[in-house]
Order: sequence, then structure tokens, then C-alpha cells
Amino acid sequence: MNEQIKPEMVANDVVVSMAYTLKINGEEVDSSEASGPLEFLQGSHNIITGLENQIYGMKIGDTRQVVVLPEDGYGEVDPQAMIDVPRSEFPPEMPLEVGVELDIRDEDGEIFPATIVEVTPSTVKLDFNHPLAGETLHFDIEIVDLRVPTPEELAHGHAHGEHFHEDEFEGEFIEYFEDEDEEEKPI
Ligand code: ZN
Repeated sequence: MNEQIKPEMVANDVVVSMAYTLKINGEEVDSSEASGPLEFLQGSHNIITGLENQIYGMKIGDTRQVVVLPEDGYGEVDPQAMIDVPRSEFPPEMPLEVGVELDIRDEDGEIFPATIVEVTPSTVKLDFNHPLAGETLHFDIEIVDLRVPTPEELAHGHAHGEHFHEDEFEGEFIEYFEDEDEEEKPI
């Protein structure tokens, strides 16, 4: 790869490094300050469409405030995605409190994250909506760097960061981070 040639601006098939702060109703809920800039392959829907669509043409050092409505972010809250589960289906030792996040495994072994939103003596209401569903997202962003993707990144349709590892599993690339503290970013 030729390191000297940097893309001039954000465009499809450019790896973008972006610093960001995410605010909802004026309150900061996420930021790249601790983990470092987010790296992604522009045009491959690595990030939410409402953000991806509003950064085309930006250059290194450019800053922008971007507002993303729910339909271009994490969708509207779906009332159908809230399910009452009998208390008896949970292990007795499990703490069942409002706000607790659980990973629910279905019959096929697929995992769905859920949040407990209500607890009664007989039932537990689980919310399978994304925690940011229904929210209008206010981003402060800065383009920190732009680079040409490697052929491998282009083929995979995503950027490979410094701590990036992946395994190929039945033709799909499973990504994970070396550092367990480095959680998946909401965008
Ligand atoms: Zn990959």
C-alpha cells in the first residue's frame, strides 16, 4: 500500500478516522475520547446511515455538527419488541431489576440483547429495542485521518483497526477486539 497518497476527502471506499461526541437531549452518552477515533470504511454502512450520509466531502481536520433522526439512526421504538416473560423462566439467582441488560438466546442459539423495563411478581418485561431507538442523535465530529483501504479491507467491506482480529466462519468474517474493555461502539 502506498502510504504517501491520502484521499483528499471523505468518499466511498475511503477509510475514515473520526473523533466524535454523541449527545442526546444535551447529555453526552458516548465519545471517542477514551477509545480513540472510530475507524470505518465509508459507503459500506459500517456506521448508521444518517451519519454516513452527512460526512461526504469532509477533509482531514474538518469538524461538523450532525443531527440524526431516529429513522436514519436506530429506528423508532417498536412496541412489538417488548415481551412479557414469566418470572419462572429465569434462574432464581438472577437479579431481576429494571435497567438490567441481558443476552437472550433463542432456540437456534442466536443472541439478542434485551433490557428489563418492568418487573412484577409474576412477569418480567423485556425490551428488545436498541437502547438508542427513538432517539434523535446529536454528533460533534472531527475527521482525524483518511486513508486508502487495503485490498483485504475492501474485500471485507470494513476497516481493520490496530487491535482488530477476525475469524472466518462459514464464509462470514467474525470480528472481535483483543481488549475486552473495547466494547462495540453504538455507531
Ligand atoms: Zn475483515
